[in-house]
Amino acid sequence: MRIYDKFYIGGQWQVLQTTGAIDVINPADGENIGKVPAGSAQDAERAILAAREAFPAWAARPVSERLAYVEKLLALMGERAAEFAEVIRLELGAPAGFASEVQVGLGLGDLASYVEVGRAYAAEESETVGNSEIHREPVGVCSFITPWNYPLHQIAVKLAPALIAGCTAVLKPSSETPLNAFLFAELAEAAELPAGVFNLVSGAGRSVGEVLAAHPQVDMVSITGSTASGARIAELAAPTIKRVSQELGGKSALILLDDCPLAQAVPAAVMAMMANSGQTCAALSRVFVPREQQAQAVAIARETAAAVVVGDPRSPNTFMGPLVSQAQKNTVLGYIQLGIDEGATLVCGGVEPPPGLERGAYVQPTIFSDVRNDMLIAREEIFGPVLAILPYDSEEQAIAEANDSDYGLSGGVWSADSERAKKVALQLRTGQVAINGGQFNFAAPFGGYKQSGNGRELGRAGLDEFLELKALNF
Ligand code: NAD
Repeated sequence: MRIYDKFYIGGQWQVLQTTGAIDVINPADGENIGKVPAGSAQDAERAILAAREAFPAWAARPVSERLAYVEKLLALMGERAAEFAEVIRLELGAPAGFASEVQVGLGLGDLASYVEVGRAYAAEESETVGNSEIHREPVGVCSFITPWNYPLHQIAVKLAPALIAGCTAVLKPSSETPLNAFLFAELAEAAELPAGVFNLVSGAGRSVGEVLAAHPQVDMVSITGSTASGARIAELAAPTIKRVSQELGGKSALILLDDCPLAQAVPAAVMAMMANSGQTCAALSRVFVPREQQAQAVAIARETAAAVVVGDPRSPNTFMGPLVSQAQKNTVLGYIQLGIDEGATLVCGGVEPPPGLERGAYVQPTIFSDVRNDMLIAREEIFGPVLAILPYDSEEQAIAEANDSDYGLSGGVWSADSERAKKVALQLRTGQVAINGGQFNFAAPFGGYKQSGNGRELGRAGLDEFLELKALNF
C-alpha cells in the first residue's frame, strides 16, 4: 500500500482541509493499493497562491537555470523508472513491459525532448521587427488537470515546457491514477525546485478541478481529458479570460487505400488499437477499407486479435491488461452491445469477459466490420479495445467519412505509394496523420482540430503555449 496523506504545496508536504481519502484500486484484481487525500477548495486555493508567490522570482531566472531543473527531473525520473513503472502497472493495470517502455518511456522522452527545445530557447535573442523588439515571457500561473491513460506523460508534457517558459504550476491528477503524480512530486522535492514552482493537489474534478479552472490567480489552464470536461473547464476559465489549452477526445480514422499491403497494415492497426487496452486518445479506432477488400482485411484482423494475449499485467507475455476501472469496463461493454444492436458484424470479442478473467476489469479485444459511419460506435469515443472496420466505395467517400466526425485528433493513411498517401493525409482535418504506420515523434506538435481540442503539446509549439509575446516599440 502506498499511502499519501498530504499534498505538495509551497515546497512542503501539507494539508489544509481534506474531504477524505481517495482509494486507489488495482483494476486487475480490485485490490486497494493506495490512498491519496481528496482535496478541498481551500487546498486548491492554497496551492494556487503558493504558485502565484513563487512566480516572479522563477520567471526572473535565466532560461538556462530553469532548464537545469528539467535536466535534474529527467535524471531523477530515470533513477526511479522501475518504481514509476510498477506504480503505473498497479494503478492503471498496464502490462509491466508496456508500463516501463511506453508509459514511463513517454515521460522520460518528454523531458529529454524538452531539454533540447529548452537549449535552443535559452540561446535565442529577442527579435527585431522594424522599430520593435519582440520578447517572450511566461504566461504565469498554470493549472494542469490530467487524465489516467498515459498519466506520467501527461504530467511531463505540460510541466517541462511550463518550467522552461518560466511558469509555475498546480497539478491535479486523475483520481484513478494519482500515485505516479505523488512520486513525481517527490522528484520535484529531490530536485530542489524552488518552493511553490510545482504544487500537487489531488481530488475530484468537480471540487479541486473546478477551483483550478476558475480561480482569478490562475493565468492558464491546460486540461487533457474528455471533451465534456474540456468544455466545462473553458466555461469556468472564461470570466477571467484565462488561456485554455485542451487535449481532448478522438475518434480517429485510418484509411487503407486500394493498393495498401493489407498483410502489413491490418495487423499493425489491430495491435495499435489494443495497446493500453484501447485507452489511447489518438487511437485509430475507425479503419476504412475498400469494400471489395473488407473480407480479406477482416480475416487478417481476426487472426491478429486471436493472438493478442490478455491477462495479468505482471506476466511478461501479456499484451493487454484490464481497463482502468470497472466503470470504464461497463462503459466499453455498453458500446459493444450497442454495436451489436446497431447491426454491425461482430468479428471477434464481445461482451463476455475473456476466459478466466471474470474478476478484473478485463474486456476482450473486439472488432466490428460492416460498420457505417452514422452508427454510434463510429461516432463516439469508446476508449476501450474496440476496432470498427468501415467498408468504402471510393477514395472521396473514405476521406469525407473520415472527416465526418466531431473530433479531429489523429488519423492514418496506408498505401504502397507514400506520395499518394500524403495527398490523402493532407485532406484529413486532424492534428496528426500517420503515413504507412509512421511513428510518434516527440519533437512534432501534438493536438487536435475541432472538438479534439485547442493548442499543441510537444516540441517548440508546446513551449509557445506557455509564452506571452511582448513588443517594445522604439
Ligand atoms: P476526464 O475528462 O473524465 O478527466 C480528466 C481530468 O479532468 C481528471 O483529472 C478529472 O478529475 C478532471 N475533471 C473532470 N471534470 C472536471 C471539471 N468539471 N472541472 C475540472 N476538472 C475536471 O477524462 P479521463 O476519463 O480521465 O480521460 C480520458 C479522456 O481523456 C478521453 O476522452 C481521452 O480521449 C482524453 N485524452 C486526450 C488526450 C489528448 O492528448 N488529446 C490524451 C489522453 C486522453
